[in-house]
Amino acid sequence: MNLHEYQAKEIFTRYGIPVPVGALAASPEQARAAAKQVGGEKFVVKAQVHAGGRGKVGGVKLVEGFDAVEEAAKAMLGKKLVTIQTDAHGLPVNSVWVEKPSAIARELYVSAVVDRTLERVVFMASAAGGMDIEEVAHNTPEKIKHVSVHPAAGLQPYQARELGFFMDLTKEQVDQFTKIMLGLSKMITDLDCSLVEINPLIVTKEGNVFALDAKLNFDDNALFRQKEIANMRDPSQEDEREREASKFDLNYVTLEGNIGCMVNGAGLAMATMDIVKLHGGQPANFLDVGGGTTAEKVTEAFKLITKSPEVKAIFINIFGGIVRCDLIAEGIIQACKQTDLKIPVVARLQGTNMEKGRELLEKSGLKITPVSDLTEAAKTVVAAAQGK
Ligand code: GDP
Ligand code: MN
Repeated sequence: MNLHEYQAKEIFTRYGIPVPVGALAASPEQARAAAKQVGGEKFVVKAQVHAGGRGKVGGVKLVEGFDAVEEAAKAMLGKKLVTIQTDAHGLPVNSVWVEKPSAIARELYVSAVVDRTLERVVFMASAAGGMDIEEVAHNTPEKIKHVSVHPAAGLQPYQARELGFFMDLTKEQVDQFTKIMLGLSKMITDLDCSLVEINPLIVTKEGNVFALDAKLNFDDNALFRQKEIANMRDPSQEDEREREASKFDLNYVTLEGNIGCMVNGAGLAMATMDIVKLHGGQPANFLDVGGGTTAEKVTEAFKLITKSPEVKAIFINIFGGIVRCDLIAEGIIQACKQTDLKIPVVARLQGTNMEKGRELLEKSGLKITPVSDLTEAAKTVVAAAQGK
């Protein structure tokens, strides 16, 4: 789960990480009021969406005067912002953050992620922060320094200092930086963060270190014990179908093709997508209904797939290991009836009770083509999606 910059900055403050003064607004009038509250003559107006790269597409505006704040807010609010980190549709801007501008001397980069291979949190820092960190990582990886943290010991001050001196901070700045890093480390553990990114972490002209941007991701599996974080969720920034899927415990990811896939097991789902692509098709989604699925889950999964207007054919590829094929067939039949299905369905049911499952599908009178060979099934569904 992600948070908005303004929410992340509020959490930063709790952990002693300095951020500029700012206020939130959901309308141009509120933006004016927010600017008055912040004080001064110049302001930064920042579109609040769950994506970075805003600076390059007009989502971060440096303005002077209250009228200009209102105007900038008006230009952003109610629109969708498309950045390098969003899809082609972009994300809706429902609020803006009005901030006191900082006098920037240097833009640094700091982040932390859970490295699954090392089984540790890894902190990264670079003096080459700002808007092009992806290029730095790609072209000059030596400009980014990593330290990994022992889970029992936590981030040690010497490790933070190492990163600070690597970025050529002065001794005073290294002290400030170390405080920030220890705050981050505590925050990650306390709140089950999976990723933290501050880009840029700035050194101001006065020589102070501040977080100018803030990105926080959380481990969804920990949200049951992070109630406050879970309540900060903004559904407007998430894919509606993925949200619906999570309610039924389905692993679902929206993709850009036109073949809806319903598969059990993540490995089989990946293989199914591969074979669809191999035969010239494009999957509309990744969907793993899970190993021990139920007829109800199958029905919900089916509804989810058919909700996308771009889906032109459905490919069901189920291996009956723990789950029985006849039960899957029942779920499919129920779903077809409930959704008044108009598009072709190719079903490959293998394993426990597969004969019974196929028999149920045949008797149902629905337009479902049973195919037992995987390659054959993939070719059939690709052709069906192309209207052949
Ligand atoms: P992002 O593009 O979505 O990552 O948004 P950021 O919050 O990182 O802002 C993008 C860029 O805008 C930063 O790298 C800065 O160069 C610039 N910027 C943001 N806030 C300020 C500010 O207060 N003062 C100045 N001078 N520049 C700012
Ligand atoms: Mn940024």
